[in-house]
Amino acid sequence: MVERFLSQTTFTSQEDFIKNLKINVPENFNFGYDVVDAWAAEQPDKNALLWTNDQGECHQYSFADMKRYTDMTASYFQSLGIGRGDMVMLILKRRFEFWFSIIALHKLGATVIPATHLLTKKDIVYRCNAADIKMIVAAGESVILQHIKDALPACPSVEQLVSVGPEVPEGFQNFHKGIENAAPFTRPKHANTNDDISLMYFTSGTTGEPKMVAHDFTYPLGHIVTGSFWHNLDENSLHLTIADTGWGKAVWGKLYGQWIAGANIFVYDHEKFTPGDILQKIHDYHVTSLCAPPTIFRFLIHEDLTKYDLSSLKYCTIAGEALNPAVFDTFKKLTGIKLMEGFGQTETTLTVATMPWMEPKPGSMGLPNPQYDVDLIDHEGRSVEAGEQGQIVIRTNNGKPLGLFKEYYRDAERTHEAWHDGIYYTGDVAWKDEDGYLWFVGRADDVIKSSGYRIGPFEVESALMTHPAVVECAITGVPDEIRGQVVKATIVLSKDYKIRAGEELIKELQNHVKKTTAPYKYPRVIEFVDELPKTISGKIRRVEIRNNDEK
Ligand code: ATP
Ligand code: MG
Repeated sequence: MVERFLSQTTFTSQEDFIKNLKINVPENFNFGYDVVDAWAAEQPDKNALLWTNDQGECHQYSFADMKRYTDMTASYFQSLGIGRGDMVMLILKRRFEFWFSIIALHKLGATVIPATHLLTKKDIVYRCNAADIKMIVAAGESVILQHIKDALPACPSVEQLVSVGPEVPEGFQNFHKGIENAAPFTRPKHANTNDDISLMYFTSGTTGEPKMVAHDFTYPLGHIVTGSFWHNLDENSLHLTIADTGWGKAVWGKLYGQWIAGANIFVYDHEKFTPGDILQKIHDYHVTSLCAPPTIFRFLIHEDLTKYDLSSLKYCTIAGEALNPAVFDTFKKLTGIKLMEGFGQTETTLTVATMPWMEPKPGSMGLPNPQYDVDLIDHEGRSVEAGEQGQIVIRTNNGKPLGLFKEYYRDAERTHEAWHDGIYYTGDVAWKDEDGYLWFVGRADDVIKSSGYRIGPFEVESALMTHPAVVECAITGVPDEIRGQVVKATIVLSKDYKIRAGEELIKELQNHVKKTTAPYKYPRVIEFVDELPKTISGKIRRVEIRNNDEK
């Protein structure tokens, strides 16, 4: 399949990749017809989705199954009045109905808005009105369904509510009955152009109010690099990305690039994350490839890995937050696998990455994906030299690169703020070494200014992580009259060290940082906590710690 979109499909070096990566974009591309149905026509029995849950249910769907179910779902949604350009919110956790629904909506030319089940009434009202949502399809659980019901009177655009079960309360349509009774599907004459909006995300809100990131119908092709090269997938792969479907990472790792590569997507629909369960699934189902944010690996390395047969696992990737070198080293020692880091945003596809032909430098994100013209620039807009910090930007003078978002929907001001004069500003700061590898410093807002120094949280966090007492930590700035800000560490201690929480351990950790990195960066303030504030995608919310300290 991938050869349909690439003129060259294997690369041996970054030079080869930069020179020869060319992605062909067909006219009126539609992932539903051009990838899912195309596989179903060519290799109907090919494995597409291996879905399991906490209750031991398990189902392997082939591409023929996916075509059949997505056609049934598309026909059913049509009968509910959904067509080209309609906004549909999916709150489906990791239910298999997510895959039926998103592909069905692509086939209809509708706009899909995946969202998290942790939304409350207020969040739902905000989203429905911000995007004029016409239909909500939700997992049939009382909490979510109740919030949706409570929100409804304040959401005039919403016409249909659908539950995939088990609960289907009054006011909701029954998804499964609906698809079973649906008429044969007739493909719309003109489902979409490449420029229509296919997908929108409210970003995870790590820093502030969520924004609506709008992608066009070509966006899946932007993820060819994610699936075929960064994840290193082919037709024999069974790939697991740990992400809820309400987060952009789900289409990065559980859909587009994976199916274009012909991989079988593994989904584990669990209620609560337990590292042991994930390892057990890898063992039981022979998962070959795993992608997860660093937070997952930080917990995996504290498990007894010898209890599981992980020999099927050949390749692991990380993104979403910076990877502390200590975690890279421990994971490699335990499994022999090098964690291959990537960087990107809901607004982009993979932007910087460690590719299979590269030797990873632990703690570095890797090299720019040639699909994007990536640069680091200073406050005056000048490209910085090797070794200097700058904001990661994507130059767009030659037009919008494949994979970059269209806009923040209905928010020209925020779009302009982030993207003007031919430059898209990621809001992230990094530096580049002599080999061109990029090293993450922090989100521009998280960088600490103390006594004239600019201190990136990641480096100090990584220094602390090399001490056995530290499981996780967050570095933030606390206001200080003399220095402007001082460095504060909020730390989750490992089991063995919890009883030692106190002055002596604080001194020990401070000395440890002074020895590991430039001494001026050491945390003058240290607080021990049981857990760090995080987003649903597992990212540390430094902004929350900062706000609490400023109160
Ligand atoms: P919001 O925009 O609502 O604050 P968010 O930025 O966390 O939320 P995402 O788009 O999911 O939402 O995350 C993208 C961000 O994640 C990047 O801008 C960057 O800050 C961080 N990130 C992603 N990959 C890496 C990485 N490899 N190293 C460091 N940070 C990363
Ligand atoms: Mg962001």
